[in-house]
Amino acid sequence: MISSIGASYLGSRPAIIEHKRLGGDCLWTGCVPSKSLLASSHLSHAMKHAEKLGLQTIVPTENSRTALERMRNIRSKIALHDDPERFRKMGIDPHFGLARFKNPDTLEVEGVGTFKSKRIILATGARPKIPPIEGLDKCGYLTYENIFELEVYPNCIGIIGAGPVGIEMAQIFNRLGSKVVIFEMKNRILNEEDPDVSICMQNILLSEGIQIHLGNQIEKVKADGYKKIIITPNNERFIVDTILLATGREPSINTLNLEAANIDIENGIVRTASTLVTSNKGVWAVGDVNGGPQFTHVAEYSASTAVRNAFLPFAKSIEYSCVPHIIFTDPEISHVGLTSSQAESKGAKTFRVDFEELDRAITDGKTEGFLKISVDRRGKILGSSIIGYRGGELLQPIVLAMKHGLTLPQVADTVFAYPTMGEGLKRTAMSYQKSRLESPLGSILKKCITWLN
Ligand SMILES: Cc1cc2nc3c(=O)[nH]c(=O)nc-3n(C[C@H](O)[C@H](O)[C@H](O)COP(=O)(O)OP(=O)(O)OC[C@H]3O[C@@H](n4cnc5c(N)ncnc54)[C@H](O)[C@@H]3O)c2cc1C
Repeated sequence: MISSIGASYLGSRPAIIEHKRLGGDCLWTGCVPSKSLLASSHLSHAMKHAEKLGLQTIVPTENSRTALERMRNIRSKIALHDDPERFRKMGIDPHFGLARFKNPDTLEVEGVGTFKSKRIILATGARPKIPPIEGLDKCGYLTYENIFELEVYPNCIGIIGAGPVGIEMAQIFNRLGSKVVIFEMKNRILNEEDPDVSICMQNILLSEGIQIHLGNQIEKVKADGYKKIIITPNNERFIVDTILLATGREPSINTLNLEAANIDIENGIVRTASTLVTSNKGVWAVGDVNGGPQFTHVAEYSASTAVRNAFLPFAKSIEYSCVPHIIFTDPEISHVGLTSSQAESKGAKTFRVDFEELDRAITDGKTEGFLKISVDRRGKILGSSIIGYRGGELLQPIVLAMKHGLTLPQVADTVFAYPTMGEGLKRTAMSYQKSRLESPLGSILKKCITWLN
């Protein structure tokens, strides 16, 4: 959709070919439904713990049915932005059907016809990765593609996979009243995050009553009447009502007939140059299908880069180093750039502020978590991780500073309003400044000041 809007701005008359509904995973099975349910689940949790803020606790009932209804209403509301008519008004022609390549510059669309173009942008997204688990087909399971269609949540759900999707869904289910058991083959949840961040989240989930079984690569499941049994490698058995597979996503390319277009694939991913062009010089691949970070903002960024490169000279390369990501749990986790261990291995230093030191976190009763920023010798930001209240919003000024090469001394020289979570950034910058005063040069400066006074 972003590619077609960009192409129409540049004066072309693009066609979008979509085999289901405009809006893709983000609207129907990803960001929008999950964030809507997270909002309900977080409020439900806050109501149950209102005494923390000096209020009477209320235990909400019939949580999941009404929260699921609300989520579907929100999805329909946001779907209006992706109404085909809106695209037609912009000079874009939407066509509905499954597309496959007939030859390098022609697509065949089931039930519609053929489309020939000098410029084709592949944006077919990703689909759930299904691991080879014995008994899965007989037993039945859900993925993010159908979990949002449930009418009511099960009493007990087993979630296989503790990446961002598994963990967000675990908190939703648990807070809306299901018993949740997570199985993860790695030794910690959210394995892509810094260990201190994932361990902090793990402790929060455990404290909320979620069961987590680490180092468990599930290879077998079994049906038992209406129940399902998840069997761990050391033969422990867990009886659940529903299994959610959250074991990753893989590019959606199987129906595209890419060979007919001379488009190379590497390890199941469409191979692209940094300019996003494929091995076919008239085809670009954007979003989840090209194997880059799987986020909506990355899909948008890559779509606008590819359209630019398709129509204009001096192709631009895609650059992921300042691209942030957020996990919308409570508290939120956010990250940009290098992890602290990656940065430190390059000689960088990491500065950390715990949320319990921030007045705003204290007033709002949200003191769990921390913010850390790794910087080079000049104070240039190389990476940052946050786990804590509004961690996603708090990361945004750090991304801006990092992208434009601002240093922590420049941040320290900026006035931040009190009391805000943004002060966490200022505090980190101040600890960097303090560390400079502890250097040999800083000691000389302090001696001069003492001498002058
Ligand atoms: C549960 C979940 C939560 C998520 N939450 C977030 C979040 O909070 N923030 C975030 O940034 N990202 C989130 N994501 C990831 C985000 O949804 C994806 O990164 C994003 O949708 C990728 O966009 P895309 O355009 O590449 O693919 P998609 O949005 O999946 O669009 C691909 C489209 O191509 C169509 N298609 C596929 N094959 C064909 C074909 N052969 N012919 C015609 N049409 C075809 C599909 O029907 C689909 O509509 C989440 C994902 C999941 C699963």
